[in-house]
Amino acid sequence: MNKFSLSGKRALITGGTRGLGQAIAKAFIENGAEVIITGRTQEGLDASITQLGNQCRGALLNVDDLESIEPFVHETEKKYGSIDILVNNAGINQKKEIPDVTDEDYARIILTNQQAVFALTREMTKRMLPRKTGCIIMISSMASQYGIPKVIAYTASKAAVEGMTKAMAVELSPFGIRVNCIAPGFIETDMSSKALNSDPERKQKVLSRTPMAKLGKPEDIGNAAVFLSSDAASFITGIVLPVDGGNSIGF
Ligand code: NDP
Repeated sequence: MNKFSLSGKRALITGGTRGLGQAIAKAFIENGAEVIITGRTQEGLDASITQLGNQCRGALLNVDDLESIEPFVHETEKKYGSIDILVNNAGINQKKEIPDVTDEDYARIILTNQQAVFALTREMTKRMLPRKTGCIIMISSMASQYGIPKVIAYTASKAAVEGMTKAMAVELSPFGIRVNCIAPGFIETDMSSKALNSDPERKQKVLSRTPMAKLGKPEDIGNAAVFLSSDAASFITGIVLPVDGGNSIGF
């Protein structure tokens, strides 16, 4: 029995149409899991499934629509069966200086990155509790490890996700549910390209404080998520794992 295998497990990954969510889905499939990815458009889902293969299913979900989350979970489990692993990956970023961030901007980021993460996790937890098993993976950011300028709402949302990880891990551990968080460093995706390619100085700063002196690949996050979701990590809960080429401890 390979304890690192995800064979026989079913995973729900939010935001699987590209970037880190798609890479997590790919790594899960390679390691034997049955995967359901979510996205906001059918085109996005179809394009991603073409790359990931037919072992991957797609389900439409805009996590901002909080009222749709409970029926979504109900329908998804009815259609595919119980979900063993939830990966809260969907997220948005916004780069603005503090005085320019409107209340609407702030609320929008908090809704997607924080409140929706709670709402979906709560609904999954209601189903995992009676089964006395489950695994939840959160995705935070280097923004919650240290101060990064011009991403105030994003930073607040990701710091909350790390706090939630610890509070949930403690409350859910007695019921066989593990909750862990991955803090990706700077990884090559659409989101990071937008933030870094328009700002060479910021990109240089990122690379200069990353001991490995390079950006990460989405598969680096996929591999970490596989480990944390597998039985090999059965005594690990409540951690925030930086996957960052040393960025968080770089001098
Ligand atoms: P991308 O912008 O490349 O992808 C974001 C994904 O989230 C898409 O699949 C998108 O789906 C989905 N999404 C966005 N908003 C919603 C919503 N309201 N409802 C449902 N799905 C939504 O981002 P990344 O892959 O770079 O980032 C993924 C996660 O990793 C985020 O939480 C981000 O904060 C985090 N992260 C990324 C880092 C990086 O360097 N890339 C570093 C640190 C953290 P759709 O097709 O519907 O648009």
